[in-house]
Amino acid sequence: TLTADKVTKFFGSRAHRHAAVSEVDLTVTDVSRIGLVGESGSGKSTLGRMLVGLEVPSEGAVYLDGQRLDVLLRFRGQRAEVRRTVQYIAQDTTSSFDPRRTLLDSVMQPLLHLFGLPRTTARARALETIESLGLPPAMAERYPRYVSGGQRQRFAIARALVVEPKILVCDEVVSALDVSVQGAILNLLKRACLERGAGLVFVSHGLPATGFVCDELAVMHRGQIVERGGSADVLTDPRHEYTRGLVRAHE
Ligand code: ATP
Ligand code: MG
Repeated sequence: TLTADKVTKFFGSRAHRHAAVSEVDLTVTDVSRIGLVGESGSGKSTLGRMLVGLEVPSEGAVYLDGQRLDVLLRFRGQRAEVRRTVQYIAQDTTSSFDPRRTLLDSVMQPLLHLFGLPRTTARARALETIESLGLPPAMAERYPRYVSGGQRQRFAIARALVVEPKILVCDEVVSALDVSVQGAILNLLKRACLERGAGLVFVSHGLPATGFVCDELAVMHRGQIVERGGSADVLTDPRHEYTRGLVRAHE
């Protein structure tokens, strides 16, 4: 279980600081499928990054099974355990891959380092996952700069899924993909989580896609969660003024 306890994140200098996220509580278990929606700048990515320890809250804290995430990440052994449990896919994957490794090599890395699998097994599993995302195996031999942004995004999904984490945090994973593959990837993500019993935090500004993947929605506005509830309820009968506008904008 991943728990954000009243997390706040300030950016900027002391005199001009502003809260990107403000006193947010969130609990993610291995059966949650939570969508974080909200307009650009509402704090979705910042919250997502705090949930995986890439950003440390200015106030409040994130806990993984009751232990402080920032503390766990300080120790190598515990850091590996955190990475086996929680995986993250960034909104912008331009710098998510080591430019000196082929994409296949990058997707294999967590299997080698987090699980100590032999190379042949790691390779086979990595390729299997890559193919399941509709990517040709030959493309996996390329270096990250020689594939498109959308293709790289799918390799990033493969690298996270191959770990079979308990919780997956995805930030706008399909926004860079064309509509024809979006549906397939969303289906695959949803199925992967259901079948493997993994929790999902799905950050997106696309309401319909999020409603499809998630059973719960949390609506962010100016750094706060202004509304949350079952996806169907939030989409059909939004309570908060801001959510109403958001839902109308998608009609
Ligand atoms: P988008 O839908 O455009 O991805 P978002 O909801 O993910 O937006 P965030 O990226 O979390 O929003 O940003 C929230 C606020 O925090 C914005 O005002 C942004 O400018 C600010 N912010 C985010 N990261 C930083 C940073 N590293 N330094 C300073 N300000 C930041
Ligand atoms: Mg974002």
